[in-house]
Amino acid sequence: MIKFTERAPYAPVEYLYDVEEILYRGKSSFQEIMVIRNPYYGKMLILDDVVQLTERDEFFYHEMLAHVVLHAHPEPRRVAVIGGGDGGVVREVLKYGTIEKVYFVEIDEEVIKISRRFFPEVSSGVDDPRVEIRIMDGADFIAKRKTADIDAVIIDSTDIIGFARTLFTPEFFSAVKSCLTDQGMCVTHTESLHFHRDMVVEIQEVLKKVFPVVDLYTATIATYPGNWWAFAVASKGGSPREVRNRASIPTKFYSEEVHGHAFLPRGLYEKLMKRELEW
Ligand code: SAM
Repeated sequence: MIKFTERAPYAPVEYLYDVEEILYRGKSSFQEIMVIRNPYYGKMLILDDVVQLTERDEFFYHEMLAHVVLHAHPEPRRVAVIGGGDGGVVREVLKYGTIEKVYFVEIDEEVIKISRRFFPEVSSGVDDPRVEIRIMDGADFIAKRKTADIDAVIIDSTDIIGFARTLFTPEFFSAVKSCLTDQGMCVTHTESLHFHRDMVVEIQEVLKKVFPVVDLYTATIATYPGNWWAFAVASKGGSPREVRNRASIPTKFYSEEVHGHAFLPRGLYEKLMKRELEW
């Protein structure tokens, strides 16, 4: 059987996947795009040789990225999804009856096209009338906004290299804060708590210079290197640990109980930030 080797950035490991079939291979102006089929994970979306999602486990990541802030915010109405060209986060956001507008800001239109073609269940929300697709750099979109009218900014980018770097700068996070409503929140993935701990801590530090409340939660994602994936969450208002929105939405993994357990216990968080974790 053919194999696909993933050499994820900054991770001291390689993962070898069995490939039943290569369904698509192409190049956009931004990156190489590949869709393969693995016997366990089903169809897999790969950008520049890095696994982005699999049919089998995509919901763990998409639910955990979207629902923590959308349950911590009392009534999310307007959301910006930055990146996330596959549409998985948009699908999750649209589950809330309160949502009026979703800005879906993806730099690479080709990813949206490929997802529509090969992952219709993931991209099922992108044609919803509440969704406004903008093909541009998410940092430009945020920098150009003049009003503070977004309740949640959800950043679903590729790894922190290349053109995704614009989504992790202090300038970007300051601009995000400016376009958020009073109780607004933002969330971004910050790689693995095993392999990328310095990066995880640095992003917390950058966010703390901008937002009054900054925190960290994790989820186990089978196909991301290091598996123990860290999400940085920042708020202009209340703590993201608290569930304020009791909207009942269909999920496979996320629940209020998961929300409570996902945050790093305070003691571990303090040690992490002082770079004193012993493992
Ligand atoms: N979190 C998933 C992962 O790390 O595997 C990423 C899923 S999603 C496919 C990531 C998307 O972010 C890609 O489609 C990429 O084109 C988009 N992206 C990267 N940098 C961006 C930027 N600066 N502005 C908007 N979209 C960006």
